[in-house]
Amino acid sequence: MQVIILGSGSPLPDAHRAGPSTLVRCAAGDLLFDCGRGVLMRAAAAGSAAGALRALFLTHLHSDHTTDLNDIITMRWAMSFQPTPLTVFGPVGAASLVGATEAMLGTDIGYRLAHHDDLTWQPGTQVTEVEHGVVFEESGVRVTAAPTDHAPVHPTVGFRIEVGSQTVVIAGDTVPCAGLDELSEGADVLVHTVVRRDIIEQIGLPRLTDVLDYHSSVEDAARTAARNHVGTLLLTHLVPAPSPGSEEEWIALAAAHFDGEVVLAADLLTLEVGS
Ligand SMILES: [Zn+2]
Repeated sequence: MQVIILGSGSPLPDAHRAGPSTLVRCAAGDLLFDCGRGVLMRAAAAGSAAGALRALFLTHLHSDHTTDLNDIITMRWAMSFQPTPLTVFGPVGAASLVGATEAMLGTDIGYRLAHHDDLTWQPGTQVTEVEHGVVFEESGVRVTAAPTDHAPVHPTVGFRIEVGSQTVVIAGDTVPCAGLDELSEGADVLVHTVVRRDIIEQIGLPRLTDVLDYHSSVEDAARTAARNHVGTLLLTHLVPAPSPGSEEEWIALAAAHFDGEVVLAADLLTLEVGS
């Protein structure tokens, strides 16, 4: 199993970091977790594409995690030679978001259907709203969801991907909580979104300090990893984006609370799991 960070950024546009998105490449195919800004550019660099996705999993419906859903729907459809509905798993509300996105694309869909004689079908999606338990099982790959805590954003979920004895967890945006502990126990890799509490407090802008109460800090993520016997903690969705040369600082903050391996995400960073 491979974990490829497609986007290590956050809502704040950054020249070097696409929006939150992680690709898990496994026997079931390419599983995409969240689809932030620039996801298909990074997918192309990773040798994937909208049409190559086996399924899309959404941790929650914040715009930075879903903004390029429309690009995935459009490209999967416009480049297809037969109907290939996109399989989507997400929290309650995901079906509404996907439906609204398809509706928003209606004008463009009409243009393309009118222009391409061999394109005779609409984009298709199959959305399953998930809360807790196994949501996907195929080719020896099992994906389990559990509720996380990103209040007042609700509901939100994290995902645990298991292939044999190898386990990867996608936390999404959350503060430490029981659902995340359940998902993370004994994981080889925990992909965790984080913010730097110390820097954000120092900046002191209310619009920024607001995010502290519903995100894990680097230290929170490290404590979650330690408490649940995780092998590697992969920090992503980095707020604010690390300034050049500060990467070791982030890792040291986590290492103070967690003895395992700590990795700071960059776009297209790839981890091999279990090899
Ligand atoms: Zn969020």
